[in-house]
Amino acid sequence: MSGPGPGSVGRAVPRVGVLALQGDTREHLAALAEAGAESVPVRRPAELAAVDALVIPGGESTTMSHLLRVFELREPLRERLAAGMPAYGSCAGMILLAGEILDAGAAGRAAEPLGAIDITVRRNAFGRQVDSFEGDIDFAGLDSPMHAVFIRAPWVERVGDGVEVLARAAGHPVAVRQGNVIATAFHPEMTGDRRVHRLFVDLL
Ligand code: GLN
Repeated sequence: MSGPGPGSVGRAVPRVGVLALQGDTREHLAALAEAGAESVPVRRPAELAAVDALVIPGGESTTMSHLLRVFELREPLRERLAAGMPAYGSCAGMILLAGEILDAGAAGRAAEPLGAIDITVRRNAFGRQVDSFEGDIDFAGLDSPMHAVFIRAPWVERVGDGVEVLARAAGHPVAVRQGNVIATAFHPEMTGDRRVHRLFVDLL
């Protein structure tokens, strides 16, 4: 028997896409499945059209921006996001979901913002001090700290009205949420802690 199930997507198990142009797609596919979603890779506009929500993985935002254009996904993705598709981005994914990117990269190869969440991010912000680091951080709504892995990570320099800061590191927001869009500067897909993915799937 079909019919509307729980959640806004009208499906009992939400179908969540993971952008699969570059980056740690497989880790997100596995994390989403463990968090209770059907997870599918997205490389083509038709695949994007078939998902209820999208994760943009960690990787390299300049390369992903380039490939979004090559695969003719950029405009359809912008349209879905503007229409309110739920989205979660980790690291490079946070950069792409942002409204504005500082240190976006060389002209012609720069990371281009998709404007899904009203934040300004600085690319490779921590990398000026140290390339990669990990640590336990407090995360709003969770009863114990989360182990967070940062790899050439961005931080958030400005949050707009309506953006909730969920976690900070070195004084900067590193996890944010605006409505059904979540972004983290770190990589929960790499640690086995599924609480961020569950938070996202539970929104759907
Ligand atoms: N520095 C990368 C970028 O600019 C992000 C790194 C990551 O996703 N681990 O896209």
